[in-house]
Amino acid sequence: MKPAPFEYVVPKNLNDCLNFLYQHSETAKILAGGQSLIPTMNFRMAQPEYLIDINNLNELSFIRTDKTGGLQMGALIRHHQVENDPLIAQKAPLLHEVMPWIGHVQIRSRGTIGGSLVHADPAAELPSAMVALNARFKVKSKKKERWIPAEQFFVGLFATALEPGEMLVEIAIPAMPLHSGYSFQEYSRRKGDFALVGVACMLVLDKNKVCEQARLVYMGVGEGPVLAAQACQSLVGKTLTPDLLQQAAKIASQNDLTPPNDMHASSAYRRHLAEVLGHQSLSQSLERAEKSF
Ligand SMILES: Cc1cc2nc3c(=O)[nH]c(=O)nc-3n(C[C@H](O)[C@H](O)[C@H](O)COP(=O)(O)OP(=O)(O)OC[C@H]3O[C@@H](n4cnc5c(N)ncnc54)[C@H](O)[C@@H]3O)c2cc1C
Repeated sequence: MKPAPFEYVVPKNLNDCLNFLYQHSETAKILAGGQSLIPTMNFRMAQPEYLIDINNLNELSFIRTDKTGGLQMGALIRHHQVENDPLIAQKAPLLHEVMPWIGHVQIRSRGTIGGSLVHADPAAELPSAMVALNARFKVKSKKKERWIPAEQFFVGLFATALEPGEMLVEIAIPAMPLHSGYSFQEYSRRKGDFALVGVACMLVLDKNKVCEQARLVYMGVGEGPVLAAQACQSLVGKTLTPDLLQQAAKIASQNDLTPPNDMHASSAYRRHLAEVLGHQSLSQSLERAEKSF
């Protein structure tokens, strides 16, 4: 398969990129790692007139901490950099644990964190992880700059809150609270496949070991990342026990989710997986949070 004809543009810096994007917002597409865009163009599902290659924009390629110990990453950071960076392993261990689940080594060596988030595949790992981590995204156009919480960024199937002319430039993850635990669980048919169901979990305990915050965020069960709000609510303010965790996983699978039926799995099977994986992720998160005392 070959893509429809297009013009290839390589801006020298972010300003040039934003100017070009502003002029051609309806007909241009940004090319990052190309791991999702190029297949889509080859199938002619996307036919941009202009392809703006951002791979030379070093301004979008950084990993650093902020004053509060939070993490800041440029949108062009590759999956393999996230996977192997010791600062990320230390500051956002959930993210570190998620990365090997994304495709294969070859895909992770080219694919970028920004590309994955903007592509917003409902079965992708990073959108759910970012919602679980309470991440925020900095988006920029020629005219303005704004921050969007991850929870508001994903607005539907392969759809985000980006407006015409805007691009994602930075991802910010707050510092992990003191007594927190995390876990990522996924089931796919073969290693490297997109998830049938996956879940990213964060639990925060207060000094008395009472649950202060719970974030259980699923993938593969809706149009984007799904925060299991009722399940999380059932845990906050309580001292967590194995029974409570089991009950919360059931609430998530029965009340919070409406998984799709498709050629890969039935809705009932996905619901079953959601309960099993939800329980595993809550249990592991609690175990890790308790170790911090
Ligand atoms: C065989 C295979 C298996 C895969 N398995 C998985 C998997 O298991 N899990 C998973 O999550 N992903 C998987 N992927 C997808 C992979 O993670 C991609 O890297 C990712 O989806 C897109 O990142 P990219 O940098 O390649 O983006 P591109 O393909 O270059 O772009 C994707 C989209 O994002 C837009 N875009 C890119 N960067 C920006 C930006 N900074 N601002 C605004 N718009 C931007 C592009 O215009 C395009 O619309 C797989 C891909 C392949 C080919």
